[in-house]
Amino acid sequence: MSHYDYDLFVIGAGSGGVRAARFSAGYGARVAIAEERFFGGTCVNIGCVPKKLMVYASHFSEDFEDAAGYGWTVGERRFDWPTLIANKDREIARLNGIYQRLLTGAGVEVFEARATVVDAHTVEVGGRKVTAANILVATGGRPVRAREPGCELSIVSDDVFYLDRLPERILVAGGGYIAVEFAGVFAGLGSQVTQIYRGPLFLRGFDADVRAFLAEEMPKKGVDLVFNEIIEKIEKTSNGLAATLTGGKVLEVDQVLYAIGRQPNSEDLGLDRAGVELSGMGAVKVDEHYRSSVPSILAIGDVTDRIQLTPVALAEGMAVARTLFNDEPTTVDYRDVPSAVFSQPPIASVGLTEEAAREKHGAVDVFRSSFTPMKHTLSGRDEKTLMKLIVERAGQKVVGVHMVGLDAAEIVQGLAVAMKAGATKADFDRTIGIHPSAAEEFVTMRQPLPDPEDGQAAARAAE
Ligand code: FAD
Repeated sequence: MSHYDYDLFVIGAGSGGVRAARFSAGYGARVAIAEERFFGGTCVNIGCVPKKLMVYASHFSEDFEDAAGYGWTVGERRFDWPTLIANKDREIARLNGIYQRLLTGAGVEVFEARATVVDAHTVEVGGRKVTAANILVATGGRPVRAREPGCELSIVSDDVFYLDRLPERILVAGGGYIAVEFAGVFAGLGSQVTQIYRGPLFLRGFDADVRAFLAEEMPKKGVDLVFNEIIEKIEKTSNGLAATLTGGKVLEVDQVLYAIGRQPNSEDLGLDRAGVELSGMGAVKVDEHYRSSVPSILAIGDVTDRIQLTPVALAEGMAVARTLFNDEPTTVDYRDVPSAVFSQPPIASVGLTEEAAREKHGAVDVFRSSFTPMKHTLSGRDEKTLMKLIVERAGQKVVGVHMVGLDAAEIVQGLAVAMKAGATKADFDRTIGIHPSAAEEFVTMRQPLPDPEDGQAAARAAE
């Protein structure tokens, strides 16, 4: 047994920190964790969970409309924001309790206080100094704040979950997944929504077809998309806020939501004092076993600014526990991490975009299908689904799967397993579809798109 108070001291009880603490304690380590705000971190309190509940809430408006085509008469519809927020808060409180009990049940000592690093083996928490053989920084990230004049009148994603009322008119600034998701949520709940993004098309990093497809679908649901512009200034008016855009237009809204990126929570933590190296963006730099430049100080999750997703933070927490306390050095495999955007319609992807696949593999075969989902044949809704498979031509391995459409996340999760197992296009082809489903389209796409670089793929398909 070491002479330190603990074998592991975890700072931050979010997705990664809780996982690392619980499993380390399960392996017999003496573990403590400090949380200054809420158990479960961003995901549970102001991220994935409440966001998805709001996506569900917002979808009912369409579901009621769609029911008419199936013979239903739906009576008066009214949405009550305070009811949604109160029910959401109750569910989050339940989850907070579960997270806390998971920790204490595993034998982890819990400090409900802010913690800072004093040196390589010392942490200050709640006015006390404690020592640990290892310190794990799992402090997450926070929204980047805007700097334009009047931006103090705006909100960020953290605030959305606690608004007193649903804004009748909202301007969402940003082109990442969080901006796109909230634009959809507010539109579904009945707000008048404009989304503004400085570039020519939102969702940088996603497949080009997926980005263009969503940009066609969102306006059908009432989101006004403005690209190649930013907000110049925001001013208070008698009637709300006036946002002046660089194109000269002035939008009258009730709220401006900035979702323009996230930054690591690494300031005022004592990391500099302990000699921990940070990147220019403030992310803790770590090696493949999550050790910082000070070997007894490790970091995982959003504070390392790599793939900012809960399942990645969980896997990293698990890897730290195994490496430190189960004699099982573990590194997370960051290839082919599937992800979803809960836009409306939703997106899910795994593997490479077409652009990245061409760059990595040279010749690729691309299979693409776009169709009206069966549900909307009777609902009459003008909403399409897009599916896309990217296959590296030489080995015929499927290297990219992309979908925009109903249930995309549920469908692509299974395909991510196939990709991880190295499935080829032939494996997809000999898989029997589930009928009638949208997902079966992924195993029945036979004809590659004509290759812009040569005609080989089309010729092979014709053989
Ligand atoms: P966090 O979960 O942020 O936890 C860090 C914890 O550390 C916090 O509880 C914080 O209070 C605490 N803390 C910080 N400093 C200290 C200190 N000095 N002392 C004590 N405690 C401290 N991911 C998905 O996979 N799917 C999604 O659909 C998804 N949707 C999202 C939607 C939104 C709006 C946002 C903001 C994020 C979303 N994410 C989603 C991302 C996901 O929430 C994060 O990747 C994940 O929470 C990162 O986990 P973490 O452990 O690194 O940090």
